[in-house]
Amino acid sequence: MQQYRDIKDRHQDAILLFRMGDFYEMFYDDAQVASRVLGLTLTSRNNGGAADVPLAGVPVKAVNDYLRQLVQHGFRVAICEQVEDPRLAKGIVRREVVETITPGAAFADDLLDSTRNNFLCALHRAGDAFGIAAVDVSTGAFHLAVASTGDADAVLARFAPREILIARGAQLLGPGAPIRADGALVTERDSWEFDGDLGREELTRHFAVHGVEGLGLSADAAVAVGAGGALLRYVRELQPAGLPQITRPVLEHTGGVMPLDEMTRRNLELVESLRGVPDQPNGRAAAERTGTLYGVFDRTQTPMGARLLRQWLLAPLLDRQAIDARLDAVAALAAHPVERTAMREAMDGVRDIERLAGKAAAGRATPREVGALGASMQRLPDVAKALQTVGTNGRLLELLENWDGCADLAADITSTLVERPPVAIGEEDAIRGGVDAALDELRGLRDGGKDAIAGIQTAERARTGIASLKVGYNRVFGYYIEISNANRHLVPDDYQRRQTLTGGERYVTPALKEYEEKILTATERIDVRERELFEALRARIGGAIRRLQEVASCLAQLDVLSTFAEVASVERYVRPDVTDGFDLEILGGRHPVVERMMPRDRFIPNDVTLQEDARLIVLTGPNMAGKSTILRQIGLIQLIAQIGSFVPATRARLGVVDRLFTRVGASDNLVRGQSTFMVEMAETSAILHTATRHSLVLLDEIGRGTSTYDGVSIAWAVTEHLHDQVGCKTVFATHYHELTQLSDELPALRNFNVAVREVGDQVLFLHRLQPGGADRSYGIEVGRLAGLPDAVIARARAVLQSLEGEQLVAALQAGANRGTLGSRGSRPQSALPTDQLGLFGAELHPAISRLRELDANQITPLDALAILDQLIRQARESR
Ligand code: ADP
Ligand code: MG
Repeated sequence: MQQYRDIKDRHQDAILLFRMGDFYEMFYDDAQVASRVLGLTLTSRNNGGAADVPLAGVPVKAVNDYLRQLVQHGFRVAICEQVEDPRLAKGIVRREVVETITPGAAFADDLLDSTRNNFLCALHRAGDAFGIAAVDVSTGAFHLAVASTGDADAVLARFAPREILIARGAQLLGPGAPIRADGALVTERDSWEFDGDLGREELTRHFAVHGVEGLGLSADAAVAVGAGGALLRYVRELQPAGLPQITRPVLEHTGGVMPLDEMTRRNLELVESLRGVPDQPNGRAAAERTGTLYGVFDRTQTPMGARLLRQWLLAPLLDRQAIDARLDAVAALAAHPVERTAMREAMDGVRDIERLAGKAAAGRATPREVGALGASMQRLPDVAKALQTVGTNGRLLELLENWDGCADLAADITSTLVERPPVAIGEEDAIRGGVDAALDELRGLRDGGKDAIAGIQTAERARTGIASLKVGYNRVFGYYIEISNANRHLVPDDYQRRQTLTGGERYVTPALKEYEEKILTATERIDVRERELFEALRARIGGAIRRLQEVASCLAQLDVLSTFAEVASVERYVRPDVTDGFDLEILGGRHPVVERMMPRDRFIPNDVTLQEDARLIVLTGPNMAGKSTILRQIGLIQLIAQIGSFVPATRARLGVVDRLFTRVGASDNLVRGQSTFMVEMAETSAILHTATRHSLVLLDEIGRGTSTYDGVSIAWAVTEHLHDQVGCKTVFATHYHELTQLSDELPALRNFNVAVREVGDQVLFLHRLQPGGADRSYGIEVGRLAGLPDAVIARARAVLQSLEGEQLVAALQAGANRGTLGSRGSRPQSALPTDQLGLFGAELHPAISRLRELDANQITPLDALAILDQLIRQARESR
């Protein structure tokens, strides 16, 4: 126990799996936790007189499954192995922690999702700047980024870290802090570890360069270097055996990509659906595939491509030339369907080269995995051949020039390993015959022994005259001769009995034992030799990690670009004309996700134009008309263009936007389960502060989370501010048709509505955008469609009539026009003065006031009945 305590002392924050023979044992608190999380039986171990020690164990063979569960629950697990052969040990066997597994630092396939990176991030703050370092130990990817306080959360979110490293007491995370980091394990480290100078040392040492300048890191990356140093130190602690797979850091120029804040990411359903089940920590969420933009593009052929697709979706480009370079490549691939198909078929069999190479370099790849790597590389010539026909333009040409088919490595693997290598050395042959003379000779001995033993069966049958005599093998007794009870009287004297069965007896003979001995020694030596040869091969492959990572990166890009081309052709997307100008012009635009949820051609395309003198659209129309759909489709088309893909439209001319914001009013926004008006306002305010003239702002029912008057007033003021102060392209969807009045005073505002047609007293949704404001809200008709009882509908119509008699709209406008002049000169101030509202409602009957506050759009049929009941009672009480 002393040895255990010494080791545990050094790994206090981890669950320690302590190897004892065929089991990993956990003691004390670790045992308690494990029994709770893993459902293991808690036992106790006598501790020589002292109190009993709680104990729980898992068999070595089944450890992977338990590891997965522990890590998924956010625990750190330290694996302590016996590091010397127990048979040779003097006294207690030496034990050491060989690795620590955490959610952010995992290799095992069942801890990873092949379609996403498993990033571990370190965060460091210096003044207003955030340094972010991210590493995926399974692929070796290593990124550094510097971000402003406002963008740090968005940059971090792109990595979707499983674990975040911060300085103890830094207060960077959580509610109110700059970073949200939902769902990531937070690991605190001493703050000195984030020191910039130490970071430089750490990086230069790890990558064996003279200075960080050699890694392309300039002085302004210092804050990220500090984070990078802390990160490397931490992963080295977790993996004492070293991390040769980690690539030189890529410094992300945050200026080059658009920061996407959390609400925009979620509201546009980029990689996660609003309705979807929350992403399971390492599971493949089905929600991701349906109802998200990721789902539309989820046609990549390789795991590297899937991971890059996710990264690109969350990092739209800002540089028009960079966008065009991708679009050129997509256009070339779209124009060559035959070659594209050939290329994609060749990529189809390519396994996760990036992770397999990482495992090889870390000395973890099994023979079967190295074999898979070889098989994958054999497909590369076909990919290259197809690329040659298409690759005549910029980006593709570049990929072609960098192309390294790794033919030597593929040949090395396929000539060394058998066709289907086993998972572990020793089960079946892993190394081909002819590779190594010594190995061939040992195999000859072994096989000769086996032949000899087979010969014994024939010889002994002849000698004894027992036709049913059998030579067999089992692990406990080795080779034996089996004789059935009926023939026992024929057994010769030199047979030695070893085992009695119900139907017979098992014997050995000296000759049998002699050959057995030969076979066993040969087999043992074969294993040793095979292991040597395999490990040498693995080391050669691991040594070529940079080349393999390079080819993996080329494949990933080719995969995503050809996927864009594939989607363009299947879904009928067109190349957008991306400009440095301001205008947004979309003809025949469609919502990429919603259109796929209905039969082909059922989705109604729409045209939208936003330009300097008509940059703000107020979009009205009843619930269910399609406002939110159009709004999101504008944002999605802009985003898709800026990741370099074709777009769902018949034509699109799009000025690059620096930021894209979408906000959804509180009652529509059930995302975080805290649909409070406060959140909605805080988010809206963030836009008003951050948006520039070059941004695209999409507001959906902002102001909805409060009473009608407040809501209309806030919406009114926000719209004015965006129009006058920010001057960005804006679309504001609202069912407050009162807002259409704003066009009288804001010159660059245009009213649009989503058309509905009344047939009798029914409403038909046409989903067509048309100029002008909606004249009424049709909320009651929608209520009827939703199944409100006829009596309630009739009553609602009557109430509406009486309310309209009181001229709600007129009141609003009156309020606006009577206001004092604002800072904008002669134009009337539009927000409603609250005292007027107070006056307005002073002598009203309580039932009327109550009705005023209601919003038919937001009431369920059940609630409507309850409210009606209350209203009736209020009316009767006051009689
Ligand atoms: P609103 O925001 O106006 O309440 P939504 O945008 O949520 O309306 O649209 C409601 C439903 O109408 C969508 O779920 C979709 O099924 C359908 N819809 C919307 N736009 C279109 C369209 N352009 N073509 C076909 N169906 C549409
Ligand atoms: Mg809506």
